[in-house]
Amino acid sequence: MAIIIDGKKIASNIKEELKDKVDNILSKGGARPKLALLLVGEDPASKIYVRNKERFCNDTGVESLVLRKDASTTEEEVLKIIDGWNNDPTVNGILVQLPLPKHIDETKVLLSIDPAKDVDGFHPANVGRLVAGMPSYVPCTPLGIYELLKRYDIDLKGKHCVVVGRSNIVGKPIANLLVQKEKNANAIVTVCHSASPDISYYTKQADILIAAVGVPELIKGKDVKEGVVVIDVGINRVADDSKEKGYRIAGDVDYDEVEKKASAITPVPGGVGPMTIAMLLLNTIRSAQKEVYK
Ligand code: NAD
Repeated sequence: MAIIIDGKKIASNIKEELKDKVDNILSKGGARPKLALLLVGEDPASKIYVRNKERFCNDTGVESLVLRKDASTTEEEVLKIIDGWNNDPTVNGILVQLPLPKHIDETKVLLSIDPAKDVDGFHPANVGRLVAGMPSYVPCTPLGIYELLKRYDIDLKGKHCVVVGRSNIVGKPIANLLVQKEKNANAIVTVCHSASPDISYYTKQADILIAAVGVPELIKGKDVKEGVVVIDVGINRVADDSKEKGYRIAGDVDYDEVEKKASAITPVPGGVGPMTIAMLLLNTIRSAQKEVYK
């Protein structure tokens, strides 16, 4: 029987730990950490994500400053807002909810965020620091995976970790994180992607398999070896008439098949997903405490 890696429980524990950290900062006379969030447009999923982030801020005692702008907001206005937050010493973290409306250049906006407040970890300055093994803001989903592996005492040293997917948000940063010469990393890392001819050849060699593909149940039981640790990042909607909503949420791994061979596995939902917001708040508090940029 595989150990079920309970991201929901770990995220809830982290929430309590972060709350204690904020209380500790305040008790020492420090300022309440503040996260500024910008939402442009009416994308329904983005609205939910921002609301959830706002709620998590409230739960941990981090102040949230949420600016909701309509879809006609210009790029110039967005850059001006970010410039204001960059220069506001009370703002510790800046998050621009993606995607932005098409007329706004996302890269330009990303590059305009002060790397010292880039709690999403997407700015090339933080990407470079991660690769170089320097203190950095690591994107929240890979950081959540790292934290799950650490808290479940999964030893990565010298283990073969196969990552499927090479996005800037998940695949590349988790590969860069786990290859670092560091106590909770030190893995041998292989990255597969859409141009890999036979991903099964690689996934079968994995001691730790991280799937961040966006293809429902791509990885089957035949694609893994006995005892593998599986981290399933995928969140995919699959049509299902038996459900009230008409769909179910599936990961990138065929859970029923793979769980039988795995030593540990994350469920979907309830695995990696809940960790992402927790890590956003962790990064914000680290920023308030000047842990990354002194
Ligand atoms: P993406 O679309 O940016 O990247 C997918 C990657 O998978 C690409 O690098 C591509 O090369 C690779 N790929 C696509 N098809 C493949 C195939 N058949 N074989 C091998 N590689 C293939 O996606 P992403 O943003 O990295 O997200 C991946 C999944 O993780 C999605 O389901 C997404 O919803 C989910 N996700 C979850 C969280 C969370 O839990 N909080 C956060 C981010 C993403």
